[in-house]
Amino acid sequence: MIAGERKADLARNSKAWDDASPKVEPIRGMPHDAPWSDQSRCWQLQAKSQQPRANSQNAILPSMRISYLECTRCGDHLTGDHPQNICPKDGGVLYVRYDLASLKGKLRREDLAGRVASMWRYAEVLPEFPGEKPVTLGEGFTPMLPSREYPKVYIKDEGLNPTGSFKARGMSAAVTMARHYGLKRLAAPSAGNAGGALAAYAAAAGIEAYIFMPKDVPMANRIESDYFGAHVTLVDGLISDCGRMVAERINKDGWPKNNDGWFDVSTLKEPFRVEGKKTMGYEVAEQLGWKLPQGIVYPTGGGVGMIGMWKAFDEMQELGWIGSERPKMITVQAAGCAPIVKAWEEGKSASEMWPGATTFASGLRVPKAYGDYLILDIIKKSGGTAVAATDEEMLAATRHWASKEGVFAAPEGAASLVAYQKLRASGFFTADDTVVLFNTGTGYKYLDMMEAQEKKLESAPATRHIGGIIGPY
Ligand SMILES: [Zn+2]
Repeated sequence: MIAGERKADLARNSKAWDDASPKVEPIRGMPHDAPWSDQSRCWQLQAKSQQPRANSQNAILPSMRISYLECTRCGDHLTGDHPQNICPKDGGVLYVRYDLASLKGKLRREDLAGRVASMWRYAEVLPEFPGEKPVTLGEGFTPMLPSREYPKVYIKDEGLNPTGSFKARGMSAAVTMARHYGLKRLAAPSAGNAGGALAAYAAAAGIEAYIFMPKDVPMANRIESDYFGAHVTLVDGLISDCGRMVAERINKDGWPKNNDGWFDVSTLKEPFRVEGKKTMGYEVAEQLGWKLPQGIVYPTGGGVGMIGMWKAFDEMQELGWIGSERPKMITVQAAGCAPIVKAWEEGKSASEMWPGATTFASGLRVPKAYGDYLILDIIKKSGGTAVAATDEEMLAATRHWASKEGVFAAPEGAASLVAYQKLRASGFFTADDTVVLFNTGTGYKYLDMMEAQEKKLESAPATRHIGGIIGPY
């Protein structure tokens, strides 16, 4: 090829690339006073093909003010004008309520086309305020991968979130609101990934984070929290011990008597993490063409993912986006820590503290979930069930998913596959049922746990392909 032809060829290739590649430019159809329309990289990084039509209805509607916070136990209404933890009367979890009736008809599901590929594409049903940008690192709108092994199964891969787990969604919403309220210090107990996510979003917001995690969390959680600049306390105990320590220190330090103390963002002890995680429910609907699946399998530690999705389904119905049908909601827990499974099997409406909780799937090592009554209610209403997976099964499923699907899941996520296989074997699901299996996090954060678990089980699997270490030549 002579030089001239080569140049022309390069120019053609360059043109083809330009036509095919995402464009970085402001979204048309968005008013200048829309939240974060000026600087947010996320809002501007849009695929050309996804851009809304000029003069379309895709612009973000004026921000929703929170109508009130509602107690999930007694139904009392509390104000969202200042930070709240739980219902002061009965300790019930608080749900954020919006004026969805006034949004119905104005916000249509087709208006979402072309919006930012993060959870903030659902801005109208998230807590945010005019003129304030959310604290975002690009969380949400994760891939819905069709399974290669099971034709009607999808893997919702939450491992691709910032900090590698679904926890990013909840912390994006919670830290956005913390900054709105002017809170300076946030504290949370964590089984691992929530701590890493809080640390990252607090760093992005310029807020201090105090994290209490068991001393044997995955190495990645410990190191990431430290690097994000959080104050990390390692506890010789479980997440329940960490939670108690946070509560004791907050009482001692006197929040809310003065605003310099810590604010507790523990799972379900503040109302906004649910709001972030509910976007998984919106995404399941949108990514499956607004037809909900027959089943959703969700690894359940604290259970907020499932609680959030259920809330999302109700909201979407109120908006007129979906009908009254719901997926069967399946909880999967570790056999070494399965309080929800036990309560479900015994027909109880709340769980008991699981004694001697042990599993290498650290996110499932939650001996009693604060929102257990909500989770059990959702399983019942949806016609779902609860399943346990042993550590050995989770490890094998992690390897199976990696080798069959190309998805390197967290052991908690791989538990979804274990549950699905058990429910297919029992006839609960058939090959015709569309089922979404949630991989809640990336396996890359669990390398030390996986290696230790393999050694513990002394099971050099027959499928291993690593031949051994050879020297340099
Ligand atoms: Zn209450």
